[in-house]
Amino acid sequence: MAQILAEKIQPARGRYNPALMEPALTLLHDVSLRALNTFGIDVHARTFISVNTVSDLEAIAANPQLSVLPRLILGGGSNLLLTKDVAGLVLHMVNTGRRVVGESERRVIVRAQAGENWHDFVQWTLAQGLPGLENLSLIPGSVGAAPIQNIGAYGSELADFFHSLTLFDFVTRETRVLICDDCHFGYRDSIFKHALRDRAVIIDVSFALPRRWQPNLRYAELAAELAARNVSAPTAQDIADAVIAIRRRKLPDPAQIGNAGSFFKNPVVSAEQHAQLLEKYPQLVSYPQLDGSIKLAAGWMIDQCGWKGRSLGAAGVHERQALVLVNRGDATGQEIMALAEMISDDVQARFGISLETEPVIV
Ligand SMILES: Cc1cc2nc3c(=O)[nH]c(=O)nc-3n(C[C@H](O)[C@H](O)[C@H](O)COP(=O)(O)OP(=O)(O)OC[C@H]3O[C@@H](n4cnc5c(N)ncnc54)[C@H](O)[C@@H]3O)c2cc1C
Repeated sequence: MAQILAEKIQPARGRYNPALMEPALTLLHDVSLRALNTFGIDVHARTFISVNTVSDLEAIAANPQLSVLPRLILGGGSNLLLTKDVAGLVLHMVNTGRRVVGESERRVIVRAQAGENWHDFVQWTLAQGLPGLENLSLIPGSVGAAPIQNIGAYGSELADFFHSLTLFDFVTRETRVLICDDCHFGYRDSIFKHALRDRAVIIDVSFALPRRWQPNLRYAELAAELAARNVSAPTAQDIADAVIAIRRRKLPDPAQIGNAGSFFKNPVVSAEQHAQLLEKYPQLVSYPQLDGSIKLAAGWMIDQCGWKGRSLGAAGVHERQALVLVNRGDATGQEIMALAEMISDDVQARFGISLETEPVIV
């Protein structure tokens, strides 16, 4: 990490309640982001600020030099591929805190600050006796990034338990609260990838956790794992433990080998297109969706194209999970991207399906 405490920017006084104000923002320059992205790509940020409070964001927006710089909001760096130095401003979300903020007969509302680690937050809710988020255990990253792609795993997704969030809007320079309908959640998608892209910074996220809890065992592999553990009436913690065990078995740990989880989204096709593909490829792996569409297993298609376990220099495809691209050493983001493009081209040529990347390419 680089060095210098280069400048201090005083928030513009007058617009703020002095009691809430931080004394100053600390700007760092030429900061290596290697330890701050799970691919372990060594690019540098020209300017870097750790964001602790809304006042920090207000001060940046009010500052004529800082407000015009292109921004990258950084959480845990687990859904990013950094292909070049970041010429503008990296805002690293480090605000922490979590608590129960409301309850009724039916549900309990919990709120976590954006810089909280997602998995730690999930474990904390379970320790409070508040089930709901257990299927989403061990997803890397921060609470603040979780709504961006509506994180999901093992038959559950963030939107199922989302209550509201607070964001700071760099265009209006105001904070506002969004509820579920405002966020346009979809499969690995939300309004933050579209209309609010590049302008919204999520400050905190609130979840509505049900008092009358039902285990979600829709995902066959999870049900099988619990059966193998002889658990017939699982608690939420049993489910979390099973999810953690499956994930540890299946997915490479970024601490051991750089990766950003699934590199491609599973493509969704119509029932008609699925039937045509099935005629040609009877082994095709797919998952019917509630709306009648069919989700195809991108990993299976990549495997069929012979990519599983292969490498191009230090950029590679994981040997157990064809959907996960890995950095086997000092790969650059551009090398990983070049590999991803070759894989997409092959899948397109063979199956007529175009793959979309899941991580944000910077
Ligand atoms: C091993 C592994 C397994 C994974 N498994 C899953 C999985 O099962 N399901 C799943 O959905 N994802 C999975 N992921 C992807 C990743 O964990 C999630 O997308 C996670 O929510 C990213 O959080 P982050 O804090 O690391 O975000 P970052 O990578 O830091 O940022 C991702 C995007 O969100 C933006 N962003 C970050 N914080 C904020 C904020 N506070 N306000 C506004 N924008 C923000 C960034 O600018 C960027 O565009 C996996 C990743 C890895 C490495």
